[in-house]
Amino acid sequence: MINFNVPLFLGKEKEYIKEAIEKNQKLCGDGPFTKKCNKWMEENFDVSKVLLTTSCTHALEMAAILADIHPGDEVIAPSYTFVSTVNAFVLRGAKIVFVDIRPDTLNIDEKLIEDAITEKTKVIIPVHYAGVACEMDKIMDIAKKYHLIVIEDAAQGVMSTYKGKALGTIGDLGTYSFHETKNYTMGEGGALVISKKEYIERAEIIREKGTDRSKFFRGQVDKYSWVDVGSSYLPSELNAAYLYAQLEEARMINDNRLKTWLQYYNGLKNLEEKKLIDLPVIPDYCSHNAHMFYIKCKNLEERTSLINYLKGEGIYSAFHYVPLHSSEAGLKYGRFHGKDDYTTRESERLVRLPMYFGLETEKIKYIIDKIDNFYQINSI
Ligand SMILES: *Cc1c(COP(=O)(O)O)cnc(C)c1O
Repeated sequence: MINFNVPLFLGKEKEYIKEAIEKNQKLCGDGPFTKKCNKWMEENFDVSKVLLTTSCTHALEMAAILADIHPGDEVIAPSYTFVSTVNAFVLRGAKIVFVDIRPDTLNIDEKLIEDAITEKTKVIIPVHYAGVACEMDKIMDIAKKYHLIVIEDAAQGVMSTYKGKALGTIGDLGTYSFHETKNYTMGEGGALVISKKEYIERAEIIREKGTDRSKFFRGQVDKYSWVDVGSSYLPSELNAAYLYAQLEEARMINDNRLKTWLQYYNGLKNLEEKKLIDLPVIPDYCSHNAHMFYIKCKNLEERTSLINYLKGEGIYSAFHYVPLHSSEAGLKYGRFHGKDDYTTRESERLVRLPMYFGLETEKIKYIIDKIDNFYQINSI
């Protein structure tokens, strides 16, 4: 069987976890490994502040609090995304205004955002699908013109860039995920990326249960107390230790995934030339992290039979997001602005192929051969 995903484990994670337990004797949050992870990201992604969190979902919840979302506010987001992108804002009473995606990158169509803005709009959330960047210059221009906050859901975008800038660091705030299905992992975990310095102090307070405990530890106040709303968004040192072993090897991991991605791309190109499938598009402004490799079939029916065929050949592939705007909660908490030209259509024909660090060349070749076979059988 070829699995769809295998959680990343290099070996050194164990050593670091042991160090956290035996040498540092620090298991709760914000110990040496959490600090190392934050600093590594701040330096490598060139951003003023990164705070490790318990998940990307929680980093988004922190972002919604920092953006001062109140009941009735509107938030613009794609419908083709994970529930957490919008749930964080719904929890604070926002209404989600869904906008269609671009058929090439499956990211929010930047040309449709301006028309969706009302007096109630407060935030735009670009989601960098598959680690491929949204058209950020355009989105930042619109945000500036209408005084909106941009929160990048860069859950899948760690180590990707837009015009040389790390994803997650372009908007006012950004969020990463280190869930086991992502390129770098700590089991469950994430990070809040803060580009706009004004948010740093309050972010630290929100993450520490609404207290100024971070300041206390730095010796800036002589006792800590409850100063704002908040929750417990800091992960255990054990998780941070696991992640740090991978951040240290981020370049090597990224190269390995890109190699897999390219082998798929080159191996499946002739099916695209024959107009049997569509392959991912990477715009010039983006360097990506090979978070995902997907192909697009003709339609839902063909996709279903491809997934079943591959399963019969021992290969696990997967479809992805079911559009949020037509889901039960989506209908209740949001509305779709404009026409759904691509969200539903593209989501129904997309299939993701196995992708993980260390996926062997022969296995990739086997998968490509089987997809070839499928189209030989089915295009007669
Ligand atoms: C994975 C993912 C999330 C959620 O990440 P968690 O760390 O599991 O909370 C949010 N948004 C997108 C786009 C994701 O891919």
